[in-house]
Amino acid sequence: MLTLTDIYLKSHNGELLTQDEAWRLYSEAPLAELAAQADMLRQKLVPDPSVVTWQIDRNVNTTNVCTSGCLFCNFHCKPHQTEKHFITTIEQYCSKIDTMIALGGNQLLLQGGMHPQLGIEFYEELFRELKHRYPTLRLHALGAPEVAHIAKISGLTTQQTLERLVAAGLDSLPGAGAEILVPRVRKIISPAKPSVEQWLEVMHQAHMMNLPTSATMMYGHIETPQERVEHLIRIRDLQAQVPEGNYGFIAFIPWIFCSTGTQLEKRGVVSHFSPLEYIRIIATARLVLNNIRNIQASWLTVGKQTAQVALHSGANDFGSIMIEENVVSSAGANNHFDANGIQKAIREAGFTPKLRDQLYNLL
Ligand code: SF4
Repeated sequence: MLTLTDIYLKSHNGELLTQDEAWRLYSEAPLAELAAQADMLRQKLVPDPSVVTWQIDRNVNTTNVCTSGCLFCNFHCKPHQTEKHFITTIEQYCSKIDTMIALGGNQLLLQGGMHPQLGIEFYEELFRELKHRYPTLRLHALGAPEVAHIAKISGLTTQQTLERLVAAGLDSLPGAGAEILVPRVRKIISPAKPSVEQWLEVMHQAHMMNLPTSATMMYGHIETPQERVEHLIRIRDLQAQVPEGNYGFIAFIPWIFCSTGTQLEKRGVVSHFSPLEYIRIIATARLVLNNIRNIQASWLTVGKQTAQVALHSGANDFGSIMIEENVVSSAGANNHFDANGIQKAIREAGFTPKLRDQLYNLL
């Protein structure tokens, strides 16, 4: 059996860890040693280790109507709750985009519920109109479950759906809707959402088309520690199939489940944030996902200090200033940064802040 030192070495050499080896890192490695090893790998994989990147973008929700009803989500409303419905209008998008541009951003993170009546034509028209009005705007839009939903109600394959969305202006796919990629967990927390296999299939198709993507993990609800590691292995294995030269997953972003007011909380599942556990997840992710270059610290959910420690434990990106975020914020995540604040936090942690674009190019 390999020692922990052997497993670190294997990861540093770019070899893929087995699930058992990944589990041993997560469950057995002393935290300070794990974080130091993850930091060493970060220094090897990131072009300038003294730099921590950050971004200006804006999260806008297309609609809150959703057929899925995930038990962790306070944001959505059901199709029959017509008094609560919204579909964002073009005028509202323009006002939000103008604010973002004035702050120096050029990317819209566009996500929403799985509306039973909004098929491919709705999104094609929306993307075309936004790109017509703002030709340099980047659209980081629709999670894999939304793509699967649009494909289903439009009678299209995943590939056809992605091709049409890209032709209309989609630039990259966020990693939303992954939660924990284990069927047992998904059946409990989001039974009506497209399955684990569908999430992986959409991402696989995106990777084959060379559409940039990211991957996420929402932990701290009903999953077991072993299922967190299983999630990492699924992401890592999909990344290993990306054709040479294609983007694949550009970044991995784990965040903590926030329970306030959710259906899960009503069932007794309450979030207990442990900064040390978060650091263990960041460090393990860096070593297991040794084929993904960027690991993002989610300051929105874990706060400034924990996110700063994460930068010394494998993470190399501080995410976005998030001009607007409604999903995790509505479940109790209340941390905020402006452009000065995020750069100050990065400097305090001992790094040089550099603004990046959505492909992690320095600006
Ligand atoms: S998380 Fe997304 S898919 Fe789930 S209920 Fe909320 S809006 Fe719908």
